[in-house]
Amino acid sequence: MSILIDNEGKLGEWLIEKLRSTYNQAYFYFSSVFKDSGYKDPFKILVATILSQNSTDKAAVTAYRNLEKITDITPCGIARLNVRTISSAIRPAGLNKSKSKALKKLSKIIISKYDGDLSKLLKNKNIDIRKELMSLPNVGPKTSDVLLLNCGILKTVPVDTHISRIAKRLGLVPYNAGYEDIRRKLDQIFNPDDRHTAHLLLIMHGRKICKAKNPLCEKCIINEKCHYYKYRR
Ligand code: SF4
Repeated sequence: MSILIDNEGKLGEWLIEKLRSTYNQAYFYFSSVFKDSGYKDPFKILVATILSQNSTDKAAVTAYRNLEKITDITPCGIARLNVRTISSAIRPAGLNKSKSKALKKLSKIIISKYDGDLSKLLKNKNIDIRKELMSLPNVGPKTSDVLLLNCGILKTVPVDTHISRIAKRLGLVPYNAGYEDIRRKLDQIFNPDDRHTAHLLLIMHGRKICKAKNPLCEKCIINEKCHYYKYRR
């Protein structure tokens, strides 16, 4: 399977231009839990990312705000709560039992290994930061990449379910491609400085147009380069 354009760098620029002309990024940020996390404190971004797993932005924002009402969003603030209290606060985000256990456990790990300061992990040049993050509970490659991207440590395109679907339909990767294959391909296609924007725009496109069931291909602004669109008829 090959994408319907030869030059990958040009493809990235083309996709960004097309999607940017369609979606207002401000809207994405407005509705995002990351806005509530303030974008600056890595621990808050990590909590926001975990709350957003398998959840909607709206539900994750509600859960985040509930948590803020009962504690500081810091490792010490969360570690001192019992799991049931955390679970009750974050219920709107779903999977609250496992997320509450993970939040408490990773808070304790950050306290014991990094003096309660996640930025000490992120600044440690002697370790594989991404691997270390992925050793924390509920932190897989996507959560790790979202955190590293938002903190300006790694310029990459974290792959969520929307991005995975679009990459496969466009023909950028085979349908059986895994997380790392897709991320590598998208990192080849998008310039480092465009990768955050690409991540946000592709998610928006997956939500609005390239839906899992019944994608709205006729309305799609990038359909001229789409493998799925070309060969489905
Ligand atoms: S043409 Fe259809 S399948 Fe292709 S990216 Fe657009 S909505 Fe998705």
